[in-house]
Amino acid sequence: MQQIDAKPHPSIKGVMIIDGKNNFPISWLNKQGYCEYSIYLENVRGIETEPTIEMKQGQAIHQELENEFKKGAEIIDFNEMIDLSQTQEILSREMFVSSPKFGIRGLIDEIWLTPDEFIIIDDKPGSIAYNSSINQVWGYCLAFKDIIGSDDRKIMGALRQRGSSKIFWMQEFNENAQKTIQKLLDRMQDLFNGSKHFLPTNNPRKCAKCRFNSFCEFG
Ligand code: SF4
Repeated sequence: MQQIDAKPHPSIKGVMIIDGKNNFPISWLNKQGYCEYSIYLENVRGIETEPTIEMKQGQAIHQELENEFKKGAEIIDFNEMIDLSQTQEILSREMFVSSPKFGIRGLIDEIWLTPDEFIIIDDKPGSIAYNSSINQVWGYCLAFKDIIGSDDRKIMGALRQRGSSKIFWMQEFNENAQKTIQKLLDRMQDLFNGSKHFLPTNNPRKCAKCRFNSFCEFG
């Protein structure tokens, strides 16, 4: 088995150093789009807050879906699942993906594996395809693509309204999408290594809803 060199980052909570590269949770790409400075407050300054009502509701729906799925699910090895999906459709939930090469890791809410394509789905509370949500899905697509290696099936990224079957956005993870996400990953690495600063949003409506606003000098 391949040995992985992994240790926590000395000053940024949630960042691991894996094979010499900063590796962070893919869900931070969504937070980055909302406000980079919130990542700084939570993970560099270490400020802790109570979860919001929306966060609690999201977690409850998520758990309900997961429990329902587990009732009829089978546990199967990743490589076996990829092989099987060349001839039959498979649905998987909560798939952990990690890419030391791109410095990202995370849990994919749901993935449909079919003989023609992989559809990577992230569940969201509303039905608006914000750039931050799209970036998060592209992050999962990139990590998944890195893991499957030479399998050349098409990868689609999709957003679905949480607790429903409504897919409100779907696009192929093509070369342009990969370039877009790579640029953002480069920025994240710059933030972690201190060559760029975490920037606050300039949208007061975001600050009004932010759980860090009482700790934030910009809120
Ligand atoms: S209060 Fe505003 S600037 Fe501060 S972390 Fe929250 S969203 Fe960002």
